[in-house]
Amino acid sequence: MMYNEQFPLIKKVFENSKKAPFYKNKYKGLIVNRLGDFQQLPVLTRQELYENSYPKTLNMLTIPEKNFIVTSTGGSTGIARYTVLTYEEWDKFVDMQAFAFKKLGVKDSDIIANIFVAGSLWPSFIASHDVIKKIGAIHLPISANIDIEKIYHYCLEFQPTVIISLPTLFVFLADKVNEKGKKFTRLHTILYAGEHMSKEVRDYISKTLKVNNIKALAYTSADAGLMGYQCEYCKPNEYHLPVKFQCIEIWDFEKNKPCEYNEEGEILVTNLARLSMPIIRYKIGDVAYWKKGACKCNDPNPLYTLCGRAGDDFKLGGAYISMNIFDKAIGKFAGKNSISMNYCFEIEDIGNKIALSLKIESGNPEKSKKYLDLIKKEIIENIPEIKTGLSIDYIKFFNIEFVKLGTLERNKITGKIKKLIDERVKE
Ligand SMILES: [Zn+2]
Repeated sequence: MMYNEQFPLIKKVFENSKKAPFYKNKYKGLIVNRLGDFQQLPVLTRQELYENSYPKTLNMLTIPEKNFIVTSTGGSTGIARYTVLTYEEWDKFVDMQAFAFKKLGVKDSDIIANIFVAGSLWPSFIASHDVIKKIGAIHLPISANIDIEKIYHYCLEFQPTVIISLPTLFVFLADKVNEKGKKFTRLHTILYAGEHMSKEVRDYISKTLKVNNIKALAYTSADAGLMGYQCEYCKPNEYHLPVKFQCIEIWDFEKNKPCEYNEEGEILVTNLARLSMPIIRYKIGDVAYWKKGACKCNDPNPLYTLCGRAGDDFKLGGAYISMNIFDKAIGKFAGKNSISMNYCFEIEDIGNKIALSLKIESGNPEKSKKYLDLIKKEIIENIPEIKTGLSIDYIKFFNIEFVKLGTLERNKITGKIKKLIDERVKE
């Protein structure tokens, strides 16, 4: 079993962590002589990371205050957390990510458009530079911080063969191609990161930009680094675990034991290649399960499947509704009259009633209007709670409108569109 193979590294990480006051205190009296000891260590929570990380304190550092880069998780979860990596650790991460790029078919002959958001201590944009340099391909550092027209213009002028960005931006580029008609003639690979890509969004991008090779760059978080990479055989949410780089436990908290194959549990991640600010048994908030058997690509690194995060659902009339229904409904019409897959669904309290509004971007909001009723019908058919709510006047109204491309609010740091805004008073 891979855990045993990893144990010498795990032990090293544990022993080293005691150089940091936070861990010295957290693990007081605890020893790790065998795997079972490690699996009984208390988990690291998001709150602990928030309270003890640089620059608030030096409590989590095992190194002097120099020779490192600081990265941020961004504001998407409400509270930004910072982590540090020495330049040596950064380079190890770059090597790992370059390995993942190559696995997905990126070569030194490629021209790569980097359309990640730069700044705000967000690592993707600058990390991509180092990764592309390592591969030896051509780098177009366009960034997502500039006007979309300019992004589109650069892509037309340079005709990249690979684009790396967020799903929100790929939708936007596809919208532009639909609107303006000029295409990317050499594009063969799309690599995304930062958010989940639904099947409908994938289909829309693939059809519009005429690209079949659409893969996740890696499964990463700014807290814990790169935790998984895909190969050509990986299904959309399937990843190889780089066992020398990270230890992942898929944990059953009810039974307090590791999950068996195909059993869903919570991910606990331990960095094996980063010692400066140790991350040990960190509860990252994602759910996954191990897949049994070897991969067709012959890579011995084990496979796991991510099951997504809690929070992509909302409650209506006592039922949990999946945001996927909106992706499916809008996906049926995306591309027609320049209708986009970028949308925002808002739920508000109005007195004792609730109001629902859905805004969808479009290259031609006026012309798209004729699809309003069809989209509404599609959604209501799949969410009977809306129909019932409207008929008993518990839901005041359900409005749908089209807005111009690029006008829905983006997170300034991550560039993502918030698909669900639930303004209701929390009970
Ligand atoms: Zn594989």
